[in-house]
Amino acid sequence: MKLDLHTHTTASDGVLSPSELVGFAKAANLDVLAITDHDTVAGLDEALKAGLKHSIQIIPGIEVSCSASGIPCHILGYFIDHQSSMLTEYTTKAIHAREDRMNEMLSRLASQDVFVDIEDVIEEAGPDRSSLGRPHLARALVSKNYASSIGDAFNRLIGDGHPAQVSIRALEAHEAIGLIRKAGGIAVWAHPRLEVLEELLPELVIAGLRGLEVYRPKSSPEHVQKVKESAEKMDLLVTGGSDWHGPGLGAELGKFYVTAGDISQFLSEGQMST
Ligand code: AMP
Ligand code: ZN
Ligand code: FE
Ligand code: FE
Repeated sequence: MKLDLHTHTTASDGVLSPSELVGFAKAANLDVLAITDHDTVAGLDEALKAGLKHSIQIIPGIEVSCSASGIPCHILGYFIDHQSSMLTEYTTKAIHAREDRMNEMLSRLASQDVFVDIEDVIEEAGPDRSSLGRPHLARALVSKNYASSIGDAFNRLIGDGHPAQVSIRALEAHEAIGLIRKAGGIAVWAHPRLEVLEELLPELVIAGLRGLEVYRPKSSPEHVQKVKESAEKMDLLVTGGSDWHGPGLGAELGKFYVTAGDISQFLSEGQMST
């Protein structure tokens, strides 16, 4: 059994539509796929339908952008009721917050003589997008010859720590976790950084965090081991996923996966039979 619990579609900053991603995952021999778009659930209905068609299990998810003690972090929500009105209220707000944030980033770039219009970013994001993100901006920067590649755009202009980067402050982490729980979901800290892991973990656990994303293709074995030990110490579930955004962006889908044995407690807490 092969599972990937972290992927993105055109509803946020992924390249494939929800149904394309599901078809791709099936062709890549995955048995279970969680779809975790940034701050939106807009792709989930289509993905669930495609899952039935392709006989692949889809876990409805979301990746919520938030901050804990002023530090930006991402909280994954799994097995959410994506029609819950609290959740859709949040995603509607977040979509606007992301547009405001993009406009702020564009004006900061303009002050560095880098001129991109919001329409250019929206065009790169395509008609299906619900939440606007930095990868859309990176694509616009490449199209307009301000960067040679997506990586170059992040490295020189819009990556974390650059003056043009504006973080999304729609929610505090405890609110993000509360929202996921109220929507019936399991909250998991995505790609926790070791430098802040011990510092932030207690407050997140108090808020109801249930798990840590341990297995990731980009993490070193030492990193995996450390996060896993923290999960054990705090009695948290472990999960894993590729954070796949599209063909050609990182390793191929299906190359990285976790097994049901790796994440058995997570599956049983989500009442998922595999
Ligand atoms: P946002 O939520 O709009 O801040 O965008 C975050 C997304 O940007 C992540 O999910 C990645 O897809 C992408 N990203 C962040 N840093 C980099 C980087 N250094 N190179 C390429 N993509 C990146
Ligand atoms: Zn992303
Ligand atoms: Fe993330
Ligand atoms: Fe992600």
